[in-house]
Amino acid sequence: MPRTILVVSAHSADFVWRAAGAIATVVESGGAAHVVALSYGERGESGELWKWPGQTEQRVKEIRHGEAQAAATALGAELHALDLGDYPLVLDAGAIDRLTGLIRELEPHLIVTHAARDPFNPDHAVAHDATVQARQLASGAGVASAFETISPPELLLFEPHQPELCGFVPTTFLDITAVWEKKVAAMEAMGAQSYLRQYYSERAEHRANHARRISGRSEIRYAEAFQRDLPVVVDTL
Ligand SMILES: [Zn+2]
Repeated sequence: MPRTILVVSAHSADFVWRAAGAIATVVESGGAAHVVALSYGERGESGELWKWPGQTEQRVKEIRHGEAQAAATALGAELHALDLGDYPLVLDAGAIDRLTGLIRELEPHLIVTHAARDPFNPDHAVAHDATVQARQLASGAGVASAFETISPPELLLFEPHQPELCGFVPTTFLDITAVWEKKVAAMEAMGAQSYLRQYYSERAEHRANHARRISGRSEIRYAEAFQRDLPVVVDTL
């Protein structure tokens, strides 16, 4: 059955480094992928662009929008840019309501977002908490509620930049070998953070090494890591 995945990204490039393979695999198998960029990362994650003389916040946001759109297109995903501002990212009641409404509208099978803490980034944990809250407001507790609800989407966390300092322990490795070229294309669209391409390419190879050791599947060359905080409900073990 085709799946719908929703990736919630604090800044407009986070989904590329950490979940581009997951997005592409869903799309390749006939599913639908949506990406929410809560902000453009215009203040805190656009260092290369701020080296330009006379640079402005508005221009940085326009460039970052173009990059995120190109990356989403390379992966076959639809981009929803909320432009809430970064460093600090703040979601007021209205922003939570927008995110909740989008989750209700899309009815994703799976939501993927940041880990609950990140000592190097003030916005990533905010995005995690807002996503968890919006998911709960959209789905309730799996029972009839005073508001419209959808089936509770699965929740996965994508890998932070320094996982061991964010309390991130992988529970799932995804083989992204078949869609690796798409992830490369998405990473190449992110010109404002080009220095991260090599880093995340190496990370994908390291995770593939781990995935091969766990599974014995020697054909895995690239992988992404995810953490599942909620139990999975299955019909057979
Ligand atoms: Zn970020």
